[in-house]
Amino acid sequence: MSDPSNPATQRSCATQPRLREEELRDFVEGASLGMQSIAADGIILWANAAQHAMLGYEPGELIGLNLAELHADREAARKLLERLRRGEEQRDLPVRLHAKDGQPKDVLLTASPVRQDGLTVRSRCFMFDATERRRAAETDALLAAIVTDSDDAILSKSIDGTIRSWNAAAERLFGHTAEEAIGNPITLIVPPELYEEERSFLERLRRGERIDHFETTRLAKNGKRISVSLTISPIHDSGRIVGASAVARDITERKEAERALQDSERRYRAIVESQAEMVCRFRPDGTILFANLAYARSVGRTNPDELVGANFWNFIAREEWPTVRALLESLTPEKPEVRIENRFRTTDGVRWTYWTNRALKFDSNGKLVEAQSTGVDITDRKRAEEALRDADRRKNEFLATLGHELRNPLAPIRNMLEVLERADDDPVLRRRAHDTMSRQLDVIVRLVDDLLDVARITRGRLQLRMQRVDLASAVQEAVEDVQYLIDEAHHELVVRLPDETIYLDADPVRLAQTFTNLLSNAAKYTPDGGRIELEAARRDGGVRVVVRDNGLGIPPTELETIFGMFEQVDHSIERGHKGLGIGLSLVKSLVDLHGGRIEARSEGLGLGSEFVVWLPAHPPAAEQTAVTADADAPGRASGRRRVLVVDDNRDAAESLAMLLGMLGHETSIAFDGEEALGAAERFRPDLVLLDIGLPKLDGHAVARELRKKPWGARAVIVAVTGWGQESDREASRAAGCDWHVTKPLTLERIEDALRAVSAG
Ligand code: ADP
Repeated sequence: MSDPSNPATQRSCATQPRLREEELRDFVEGASLGMQSIAADGIILWANAAQHAMLGYEPGELIGLNLAELHADREAARKLLERLRRGEEQRDLPVRLHAKDGQPKDVLLTASPVRQDGLTVRSRCFMFDATERRRAAETDALLAAIVTDSDDAILSKSIDGTIRSWNAAAERLFGHTAEEAIGNPITLIVPPELYEEERSFLERLRRGERIDHFETTRLAKNGKRISVSLTISPIHDSGRIVGASAVARDITERKEAERALQDSERRYRAIVESQAEMVCRFRPDGTILFANLAYARSVGRTNPDELVGANFWNFIAREEWPTVRALLESLTPEKPEVRIENRFRTTDGVRWTYWTNRALKFDSNGKLVEAQSTGVDITDRKRAEEALRDADRRKNEFLATLGHELRNPLAPIRNMLEVLERADDDPVLRRRAHDTMSRQLDVIVRLVDDLLDVARITRGRLQLRMQRVDLASAVQEAVEDVQYLIDEAHHELVVRLPDETIYLDADPVRLAQTFTNLLSNAAKYTPDGGRIELEAARRDGGVRVVVRDNGLGIPPTELETIFGMFEQVDHSIERGHKGLGIGLSLVKSLVDLHGGRIEARSEGLGLGSEFVVWLPAHPPAAEQTAVTADADAPGRASGRRRVLVVDDNRDAAESLAMLLGMLGHETSIAFDGEEALGAAERFRPDLVLLDIGLPKLDGHAVARELRKKPWGARAVIVAVTGWGQESDREASRAAGCDWHVTKPLTLERIEDALRAVSAG
């Protein structure tokens, strides 16, 4: 308000001079406001320069035109003139006109009618160009709509951090309505631990800096944390920074997706890293991009990360390089996977591995850029395969040798049979024929026995009949067994046993068999005229028996393997007798079964061999009288006995009966169970040699029937069978047999049985 007492104000009102006419014209023509004077019917009587310019007319061209002609909307023009005629003043009326070039022109029109005698005679008209203002308003509205409808939260804050605006998306994102948010500090949506960050934002904004796509966390009304990407820009007013606008984009989903991806990658990595298969990702030049723990371990590293950047060619045996290179070159987009077995260099030496190689990336020319190999160690499988092949080869060799070994003794036997037939009564010839045949038969029997023993051992069915045994007697038996071999080759055999008697808990037959095998090997694998020693001494609480020869020797590489089944050293100058390669395997099994151990020693080929056996033995103090195998055998068989031979193998039965007859006994023969019962009834035998596997009635049934007879109760019944298991013996005993003997039935056994008859 102006102060009337102020002399300056007073002067300006009181002394305002009137404009001179040219000054007035100058003022009107120079104004940027369009001015015109129009008649009551709308004819333009006068218009200033600004009005002409606004509509694109040359000065003076508007005079005489009707205002209605300039209007885009004739009806609106008519109404306007009507109102002016009625004397109504118009203020800021939005009107659309045509410029001279036809372009629309929005103006704001203010008009005041000049009236005389109650009638409007003309009107003063002012026009203000509204196009620019409208455009500005439209832009404002558009911007406002963008802000309102934006999916991003948009808000502004003053420089002191007070929220000034808050769009709909901000309401949705943070849960506060605009009303709740505006006027509050921005910390409304900042988690307490991030206040410091917000403070630093305001600091930077004050310096005029902008914060661009900053990923952080904000707090919603319900307390939930939201991951947002923030872009904050300072707001200037007249060069001053007065606040900031912030756009917050919700990136929770993206963050969660990222986290899920990271999690799945971590899980995948964990699987890959911990799996037993080796995994290595690499470029074709060999640069390792990734390796897992199994791969790292296989090349002697504990940390797979150390391998990144190393060259994987270093870990492939050099001779495999061409193959692997060709393989990598064969990977194409059409055939991206190839499998291969190769030797892989590792810290444990070179191992066999099976690799699956997969192309992961090709360049635009189809050239391999990245590949991955996954490998499993198949060394054990390879070894097993090799061992299997080896075993198969040895088995085939064995079968061939077996045929050969069985045929060898058969030829002399057959020859001697012929000799016997022609020898008539030549006692010398007959004796020689007999000796040869007996010897050759022994060879066959030993072979078959060994085979059966091996079969029993491999099936875990060999049982030892343990008793107190004198070492010397077992050695003695073995020496007797091999004497003919030693004599044949003119070897010298030296046996050195300690003076004291050494007792073992052992199966006497098996113990002797062990030494027999070692001695016969020594004889076999020593050139004629060699020296063989058997030496025994107490050692380590047991007894150590060494069988030594100065023969062909054993290469160091085979010292352990020769104990395997069918293992044989390729001795080029071997003696004629080759063997089956099962003797040592049998010896080792027997020694093991006795709780002992065996070892082969040799300085090498041609330098002789030494087999060292250790067996547990009784300490000297615990010496007792040995119970020898025949300690409880009855005295010598005496007198003529009645023997019933029962066997469905006629040759076996008849030859046995013949032998018994020659020994002075009376015999009867039956070929099946029923016949046996009939024969027994008539013959009343003292001794029955009874085969168990018989037609019609088996041996056990026969024995049971015989035992029911009064005369049968006194007879000695011997079960003769191929089955020697404890259960078989038990079955025989239960059926009433006195003895159970496994085939072949030797003369020795028969004599034992006859002695039992005498004793009974
Ligand atoms: P076989 O004698 O029937 O071949 P063995 O199992 O008894 O089978 O022996 C296996 C192999 O060990 C023999 O083939 C032989 O090559 C070797 N060997 C055994 N004993 C001796 C030894 N005293 N001297 C040299 N080599 C031996």
